[in-house]
Amino acid sequence: MNPISIFCPVTNRSVETGIETNWSTFFKLRPFRMRVRCPQCGGRHEMAVREGYLARSEAGLDSGRPQENPQIESLLAKLAQN
Ligand SMILES: [Zn+2]
Repeated sequence: MNPISIFCPVTNRSVETGIETNWSTFFKLRPFRMRVRCPQCGGRHEMAVREGYLARSEAGLDSGRPQENPQIESLLAKLAQN
């Protein structure tokens, strides 16, 4: 799995949201918004999922059989909880 990351708009440094997904699920989540508690600046950022990115490429992560997609609903709940 692959953590969704963002760039902190205050420090411009990379922050992992702690929400892990894969590319196909990430693309489905892109229209939604997420809240991120930011360890870089200590604040909270609300932004569209599409403003984030996945830190790792899919190659080498899910070698062999593709992993099952996490439920979109549970990911969305996590995004809103942060
Ligand atoms: Zn920040």
